Amino acid sequence: MSQAEVSRMRPPLVPLATLLGRELRNEKVEKPLIRYGQAALAKKGEDYFLVKPDCLRIPGNPSTSFSVFAIFDGHNGISAAIFAKENLLNNVLGAIPQEVSREEWLQALPRALVAGFVKTDIEFQQKGETSGTTVTFVVIDAWTITVASVGDSRCILDTQGGVVSLLTVDHRLEENAEERERVTASGGEVGRLNVFGGNEVGPLRCWPGGLCLSRSIGDTDVGEFIVPIPHVKQVKLSNAGGRLIIASDGIWDALSSDVAAKACRGLPAELAAKLVVKEALRSRGLKDDTTCVVVDIIPSDYPVLPPTPRKKQNMLSSLIFRKKSQNPMSKLTNKLSAVGVVEELFEEGSAILTERLGKDCPSYTNSGIFKCAVCQVDQPPNDGLPANSVPFFSPASRPWEGPFLCANCRRKKDAMEGKRPSRPTVAA
Ligand SMILES: [Zn+2]
Repeated sequence: MSQAEVSRMRPPLVPLATLLGRELRNEKVEKPLIRYGQAALAKKGEDYFLVKPDCLRIPGNPSTSFSVFAIFDGHNGISAAIFAKENLLNNVLGAIPQEVSREEWLQALPRALVAGFVKTDIEFQQKGETSGTTVTFVVIDAWTITVASVGDSRCILDTQGGVVSLLTVDHRLEENAEERERVTASGGEVGRLNVFGGNEVGPLRCWPGGLCLSRSIGDTDVGEFIVPIPHVKQVKLSNAGGRLIIASDGIWDALSSDVAAKACRGLPAELAAKLVVKEALRSRGLKDDTTCVVVDIIPSDYPVLPPTPRKKQNMLSSLIFRKKSQNPMSKLTNKLSAVGVVEELFEEGSAILTERLGKDCPSYTNSGIFKCAVCQVDQPPNDGLPANSVPFFSPASRPWEGPFLCANCRRKKDAMEGKRPSRPTVAA
C-alpha cells in the first residue's frame, strides 16, 4: 500500500485553529525562562553535547516551545556519540503521536524516549561500527523536566530550597546489582579483568567485550544484553524554578552531586558550568573527558541574573531579594512550591522493552495498518507480530494484545532479552 493510500484512510486531521486554541488555554501560567551554559575539558575527545533551546511541538507556534539538552560520553571511538547526537531527538519526536494536547504530549514522552533510544541503537548497529556511548537526554517543557539516560552520565536537580536530587541512575555494573543480575540472566558474564596469574583488577565488567556499563547506545561488539533502554524520570518543578547540572562521569568521579551543586550556586549558568569543570579538575586532575551543561529554569517574573559576570556582592544581594520578594505571595498560594518541592510525575527503569512500551500502546490505526511501536514504520498486518503473541512470553494474551513490533524490532527485543542473537555471533 502506498503512503498516499495510507494517509487517505486516516481519520480527518484536527484543524490547526482548534489545536492553537487548546494551546492558548493551557498557557495561563507564565512559562519559565531557560538560561544555560556549557563547559568542557577534553582528554580523549569522546564527549559530545547537544543544546537545542528552541524546539516546537507545533511547527510555527512559538507558544509550544520546549528545550532539549543532552550529553553523549563515547567509548571505543566517537561514531556512536555523534550518531546519537544527530539522530536521537528526531527518533524520539517521531514516536510521539501527532495532533495531541500539551498534556498528552508530556504523557507520551517517556514511551517515545524508550522507542527513540532503541530505534537509534538499531540504526547505529546497522552501520556495522563498534563504538558506544552513554546518553543523558533532558527535555524541558515549561516546569516539566523529563530525563532519559543510559550509562553513567548524570543529571542532578538543585532546587531553590537547596535540595539536590539525582534524576538519573548509574548503569555501572560495579554499582548496580539489579543490572548485574539482568546481564547474567541474558547470557553475559560479569567479572573483573584478570592479570598477573589470576589477580583481579579494576571495576566489574561484562564479557565478552569488557564494558563497565550495563546500558548504552552502540557497542555492537559487546552483546545485546547491553541494552539501550533508558531509565526515564519526569518531574514538575514548583514555580520557584531550579537548576539542572548535566555532566559526564569525568565530573561525577571527582565531585559528589552536593559538592557540584554548592560549588556554583548563585552564579549564572555559563559561569556555573565553567566552575564545576574547574572544581573537578582541581580535585582529581584531568583523567577523563569532562563535560558539563548547566540549565537554569527561572520564573519569568523574577529579576534575571545578567549574562555577564558582575561583582559577587551584587549577585548575592539579588538572590536574597528574590527569596524575600517571593515569601508573602507563597504563604497565600502554594506553601509546598515555596520550599522548592518537586512533584514526581513518572519514573521507570525496567530493561524489558514490552513493559516500557505498555499494553495500551496504540498498535494499529483505524485503517488496519500496523505501526511499529519502536521504529514507527507502517506495515500490513502480516509482516510482523505483536510483541506478546509468543505463547512462552504471555500464554493468556489475545492475538493482538501488546505493542506491535515489526520483524526487525522484534528480533532486537528478543536479542536484548537473551532469547536469540540479533545477528550471527562468532564463537568465543
Ligand atoms: Zn520496527
